[in-house]
Amino acid sequence: MSNTTPDRWWLKPLETLDAGQWEQLCDGCGKCCLHKLQDEETDELYFTAVACRFLGTEKVRCKCYKERAEKNPDCLIIKPDNIESMLEWLPQTCAYRLRSQGMPLPVWHPLNTGDADHVERCGHSIRHRAISEDELGDDVDWEELILVDIL
Ligand code: SF4
Ligand code: SF4
Repeated sequence: MSNTTPDRWWLKPLETLDAGQWEQLCDGCGKCCLHKLQDEETDELYFTAVACRFLGTEKVRCKCYKERAEKNPDCLIIKPDNIESMLEWLPQTCAYRLRSQGMPLPVWHPLNTGDADHVERCGHSIRHRAISEDELGDDVDWEELILVDIL
């Protein structure tokens, strides 16, 4: 029997991760790329099925990842030193949000399963659920596009 412990680096403090580890922490769910509605009275946030125009909705990948700050000033560029101010805009399942709060990653996270497809199989990907904002018509009722299962 081996007495070695797997290096589960993703359980280390966020500020100690290197750049590659930081990127791997993302589960690729795409939820943070969805447009949100905010209740003016309660401040409650609702995720809609409408994705940023730069999101490739088929593969759930940003089409301009390296230039996303310039292309989309509203993009959430999450870093170790700004994560606290981002929390309210991130879904409860977001790996950065969970780790910043000392929580473990979900069992379906690719770092736990070794299989990125688990994210979709477990219902946490926006793949096949989101539409690009570029495909919206003019008379859209945004409230009808709220995804009630994304919190
Ligand atoms: S919500 Fe978090 S884990 Fe999901 S894609 Fe966005 S940054 Fe990655
Ligand atoms: S610019 Fe890219 S990473 Fe930012 S919200 Fe749009 S698709 Fe997502």
